[in-house]
Amino acid sequence: MINPNASEPSVNILIVDDKPPNIQVLSKMLTKVGYKVRGVTSGKMALTAAKTMPPDIILLDIKMPDMDGYEVCQHLKQFPETVEIPIIFISALQDAQDKVKAFAAGGVDYIIKPFQFEEVHARVSLHLAFRKTRYQLQQLNQELEKRVEERTTALLEAQGELLFYARHDSLTNLANRRLLLERVDLALKRVHEEDHYLFAVLVIDLDRFKRINDSEGHMVGDRLLVEVSRTLETLVSPADTVARLGGDEFAILLDPIEDVNEALRFAQEIKTTLTTSFFIQEKEVFTSPSIGLTISHPSYQSPIEILRDADIAMGQAKEKGRGRYEIFNQQMHAQALKLLTLETDLRHGIDKDEFEVYYQPIMQLNPIALVGFEALIRWQHPRKGFISPGEFIPVAENTGLIIPIGTIVLEKVCHQIQTWNQKYPQARNLKVAVNLSSKQFNDVNLVQKIDEVLEKMSLKSNHLKIEITETSLIEHSLSTIKLLKELKKRDLEICLDDFGTGYSSLSYLHQFPVDTLKIDRSFINSIGKPQDNSEIIQSIITLAHNLKMKVVAEGIETEEQLIYLQQLNCDFGQGYFFNRPLPPIEAEKLLINN
Ligand code: C2E
Ligand code: MG
Ligand code: MG
Repeated sequence: MINPNASEPSVNILIVDDKPPNIQVLSKMLTKVGYKVRGVTSGKMALTAAKTMPPDIILLDIKMPDMDGYEVCQHLKQFPETVEIPIIFISALQDAQDKVKAFAAGGVDYIIKPFQFEEVHARVSLHLAFRKTRYQLQQLNQELEKRVEERTTALLEAQGELLFYARHDSLTNLANRRLLLERVDLALKRVHEEDHYLFAVLVIDLDRFKRINDSEGHMVGDRLLVEVSRTLETLVSPADTVARLGGDEFAILLDPIEDVNEALRFAQEIKTTLTTSFFIQEKEVFTSPSIGLTISHPSYQSPIEILRDADIAMGQAKEKGRGRYEIFNQQMHAQALKLLTLETDLRHGIDKDEFEVYYQPIMQLNPIALVGFEALIRWQHPRKGFISPGEFIPVAENTGLIIPIGTIVLEKVCHQIQTWNQKYPQARNLKVAVNLSSKQFNDVNLVQKIDEVLEKMSLKSNHLKIEITETSLIEHSLSTIKLLKELKKRDLEICLDDFGTGYSSLSYLHQFPVDTLKIDRSFINSIGKPQDNSEIIQSIITLAHNLKMKVVAEGIETEEQLIYLQQLNCDFGQGYFFNRPLPPIEAEKLLINN
């Protein structure tokens, strides 16, 4: 007969029977099929044997003098080291009651004496197999439990990480806006509860960061942000919060402070510490901070208001020349509100077509003759009346609205030239100059838009002149050269506006395809006055002529100025002396009489 367990090394069987001959018979047969067998002749011995060296299975007699098999079985089922051992009763008792008792005591099987060895063997094998399966299941269970535990830990960790990054910035590990606002909120509660409790919030923006990011790459940009974060952390005390609000904007909550001076001294310290060069990937990058600062006050109702005011102050610092700090005050708020309203109104203005174009004549100076116009936008606000471009163009530039506004002007101007062209032969050579903001250079569709408008109006491009300011040239040099070359390809003339205010040298100028220089009004205005700039005017004209450029003088208001400019051989001029910017109908009259 094949022993199913023979291949298993040493399965241990314990036989319990008060009659040694019974043990001997069974033991012999079991050993023969490959089991290891021990035998004991009393219940007590059985307990000791099972506990000291737990067998794999027990064959247990019932009727024994000191302790019967039921009792032995119940005992063994009480101890962890023996509870799992399968116990097969072997007994001459045949009553069903006895079998029920045996199973109730914890037995797994019941063999009636006299037994057939094949039966004993088969049942032993079966229960060993059960036991083995049970063991494997247990192992599997344990393994599963372990894995569940591991997963749970990983999940908890991930959750912890999620929780962390819900309130922190992933690049710098600093607090993020949310955490900062929560802390400012707590501080604000104390301000409302305790007299004289003070804290400060600073918003810090890195000057020139965008340029560093664009020119040196994002890796360097990111490193710089991390370095700045670490530097800021060294400057604060543990109770304070350093946060990154996004991009190159940071904020610091100083909580509490003794007085306003403490916050100001701190702002000064940040300014000095961050106005420096950082070495990143062996490159030296230079930055400086613009800092806005606001001090707590019981009138603040929400942390957002505080952050907003620090932000407004930061904007002021930037506007006043960067690398400095400003403390928030009420005028700033009013100003910010005004700009916001203006922006909303501008959007309406675009939708409702509230813009018009006026035309200021440009005159040839020797002999005097009308050669063209400069197109200047006018905004008729439905409630506030006339708003000058000096006021709304900067807002349009900051909000991107200059792009649709620029298109409106271009369309209106082209339409106007086309109308005049059809009506009057003297308009054939008319040129109209349109002002282009440097912010429009960012519009990748700019050239395409100009093409489209010209085509829609079937207008030749040489009727248009583009005016860009000298400062915008300096800001954008490379991309501007490309753009200007594109415009030149289309035969559009380029005029450099407000010349003399942007500190560009004429030698630098010569890289740009510029046709005309327009000398800034401030120079013309000084003619004949004590702080006369006429030498500068003279050299601009001479140099421009050497570079084959024409010169327009802007803002001629008096005859004296005109005569002087004529003497200097200035080519063209415009100004109140000739005409103010005129509505189309007035400009048209001039054109007819020319
Ligand atoms: P700008 O291009 O330098 O335009 C000349 C400004 O000087 C105009 O002011 C004009 O009215 C004014 N002006 C002309 N002659 C005289 C004079 O003899 N004396 C004085 N005191 N001023 C004179 P305006 O129309 O208020 O425009 C201001 C600025 O707004 C313009 O300066 C230009 O930079 C910008 N701007 C105007 N229209 C547009 C536009 O359609 N698009 C863009 N991007 N900017 C525009
Ligand atoms: Mg202009
Ligand atoms: Mg100008």
